[in-house]
Amino acid sequence: MSLPPTSPTSAPAAASTAAGTTPMVSLSHVAKRYGDHVVLEDVSLDVAPGEVVAMIGPSGAGKSTLLRCVNLLETPDSGTVSIDGRTVDTSGGISAKDSMQLRRTAGMVFQSFNLFPHLTVLRNIAIAQERVLGRSRAEAEERSRELLERVHLAGKEDTYPTRCSGGQQQRIAIARALAMEPKVMLFDEPTSALDPEVGLEVLAVMRELADGGMTMIVVTHEISFARDVSDRVVVMADGGIIEQGPAAQVIGSPEHERARRFLRAVTDR
Ligand code: ADP
Repeated sequence: MSLPPTSPTSAPAAASTAAGTTPMVSLSHVAKRYGDHVVLEDVSLDVAPGEVVAMIGPSGAGKSTLLRCVNLLETPDSGTVSIDGRTVDTSGGISAKDSMQLRRTAGMVFQSFNLFPHLTVLRNIAIAQERVLGRSRAEAEERSRELLERVHLAGKEDTYPTRCSGGQQQRIAIARALAMEPKVMLFDEPTSALDPEVGLEVLAVMRELADGGMTMIVVTHEISFARDVSDRVVVMADGGIIEQGPAAQVIGSPEHERARRFLRAVTDR
C-alpha cells in the first residue's frame, strides 16, 4: 500500500496522490469559521484509494472540524468535498440529499462510541443496514456476525454494550461503521477515551483495516500508530495544513518549526 512520497514541504494545496489515480477523498479550498473565529482556512487535501492518512497537530488546530467536513457533519462555508467521484460544492449550501449520499460513503468512528444501550451488540450493527441500506433482518444480521468476527468480537452478539469494555465498544462502533460499506473510514481520536492497553486492541483492528486496503483518515495523538501504519502524516496548526509527507520523514525530521514543537511535546511526554 505504499505510495510514492508526497511533498515533504509545507503544502496547503492539494497533495498529489499516486500519478494518475483519482483520489478517493478530495477536499478543495475548504473554509470554515464560527462567527469571527476562522477554524479552517482554505484547506485542500487529496487522499488516494487505500491510503491511510494520520492527521496530527495541537489541540484547536481544526483537525476534528476538517474530518467532520469530509462527511458533511460540519458544513464548510466554501470549498468542494468529493468522495469516490461524488462532488459537493458547499458554497451554495448543501441539499439534504447531497449530504446523505456523501455521508453514506464515509464511515465515522468517534472518541465516544455512541452505541444504543437498549440494543444487543448484534442489533447495534444490524439496525442501520436494515433502515438505510434496506437489507433484510437475516441479511443484516449475517453481515453483522461477519463484521464482529473481523473486529475479534465473535460471541458477543447477544451482549448489551454496557457489558462490554471500552475497547470492545469501540470495536463494535467500527463494525457498525463498516456495515454501511463505506468507501473511506474517518476516525476522530478513536483511542483517546480508552486506557492505553485497551486502546491497543482498537489500534490493532485499525491496522488490520489499513492492511486490508481501506482508505482511512485518522485524527490521532497516537504517534506510534501514525508512524507505523499511516502512509502519510498531515500536520495541522491554526486552521491549515503546515506540513505533510511520509510518516518517517514528518515525525522523524519535521521541517516546520510549529510541527517540530508539537512533535517534541508529544514524544517527550
Ligand atoms: P482539533 O480537533 O484540532 O483539536 P477542532 O476542529 O476541534 O480542533 O477545533 C478547532 C477550533 O474550532 C477550536 O478553536 C474550537 O474551539 C473551535 N470549534 C470547534 N467546533 C466549534 C463549534 N461548534 N462552535 C464554535 N467553535 C468551535
